Amino acid sequence: MSAISLQIPFDVAKLREDFPVLKQTIHGKPLVYLDNAATAQKPQSVIDAIVKFYAVDCANIHRGVHELSQRSTKTYELTRAKVKKFLNALHQHEIIFVRGTTEGINLVTQTWGRKNVKAGDEIVIAGLEHHSNIVPWQMLCEETGAHLRVIPIDDRGDLILDEYAKLLNPRTRMVAIGHVSNALGTINPVRKIVEMAHGAGALTLVDGAQAVPHMKVDVQALDADFYAFSGHKLFGPTGIGVLYGKTDLLNAMPPYQGGGDMIRTVTFEKTTYNDLPYKFEAGTPDIAGGIGLGAAVDYVNHVGIDKIAAYEHELLLYGTEAVSRIPGLRIVGTAREKAAVISFVMEGIHPHDIGTVLDRMGIAVRTGHHCAQPVMDRYRIPATTRASFAFYNTTAEIDSLVAGLDKVKEIFS
Ligand code: PMP
Repeated sequence: MSAISLQIPFDVAKLREDFPVLKQTIHGKPLVYLDNAATAQKPQSVIDAIVKFYAVDCANIHRGVHELSQRSTKTYELTRAKVKKFLNALHQHEIIFVRGTTEGINLVTQTWGRKNVKAGDEIVIAGLEHHSNIVPWQMLCEETGAHLRVIPIDDRGDLILDEYAKLLNPRTRMVAIGHVSNALGTINPVRKIVEMAHGAGALTLVDGAQAVPHMKVDVQALDADFYAFSGHKLFGPTGIGVLYGKTDLLNAMPPYQGGGDMIRTVTFEKTTYNDLPYKFEAGTPDIAGGIGLGAAVDYVNHVGIDKIAAYEHELLLYGTEAVSRIPGLRIVGTAREKAAVISFVMEGIHPHDIGTVLDRMGIAVRTGHHCAQPVMDRYRIPATTRASFAFYNTTAEIDSLVAGLDKVKEIFS
């Protein structure tokens, strides 16, 4: 038990009741789910919304005059309105549905990037990025002859902003930055980074995969040109996510994929494209996923994103203190501003062994490079063990984690 006493802004036990998956035992022990950065669990309301679509309203959207098509279109489009409000976007058509953060970033590199980036141009990313905010830019650079520049991080896992300032120059076309690091939990000063990029005449893309589920995100206040997130990390379904983009930029970009729904007229000689957002949404989308995402946004609004952020911060403090007392354990990533992610290594014990022992105790953590190999290289480690929290986690679960880690030590020392 930690000495820290927590400020808890809601009834966690009651909220946990909304998540059927949490009610099970794993290897005979109550499930302790601490892998929320990989994907978050789904409340019953999200599951119900998906079931209702398939059981009652199932039809393709946008094209049908019949009742079921009208219903499914209405519910699907309602999600767009909900996301617009959730992110505080200026317009609903600035919300483009994609498969997830990865596809959102690829959409920008393949459309805006191919049109605007030329040989000798520069793209800036940070040393903390997830592979999905590295590789698409690398591919674009390979194709165009542009150069990738990387903002270094310090030993705590904070970006070195003085070095960032030095990287900006008239050739910088885009600064693409993670809002929150999935590997270390660092919350980047995105508002400042965007301001500096704009000052240099560059655009900005923010990878919000780890931010949107855990803190209030206001795309207008951030002034980001593009912002991407994944539904499944926001307690919604897999297969659906959002790319936000400013209207003028989206209008000036060529389409991403060709097909149904993204067109206005088609002849063999020429095709004209649909308006935003449909220009970027070719083919039948993940309708059930979109509807489930709407239910997830409702759920998060019902809990309250500010309360979620405040409670998760308390969990971070409690967890940090608790695991720090384990001899030989070192937390990797101690940034000044951190989300509720604790990545750590234990002297002489491989993270996969840690993960396996914890699993036998019903505790789900992630081990590996967390799709952020350059971060691991920066710390000269192959992997970490990562516990990542959501608002349904409890201090009792952190105590179980600590007990599990004590057991790991016992086995391996
Ligand atoms: N960026 C970050 C920071 C992430 O944590 C993840 C998922 N781990 C992604 C991007 C990619 O998200 P998805 O796989 O849902 O596209």
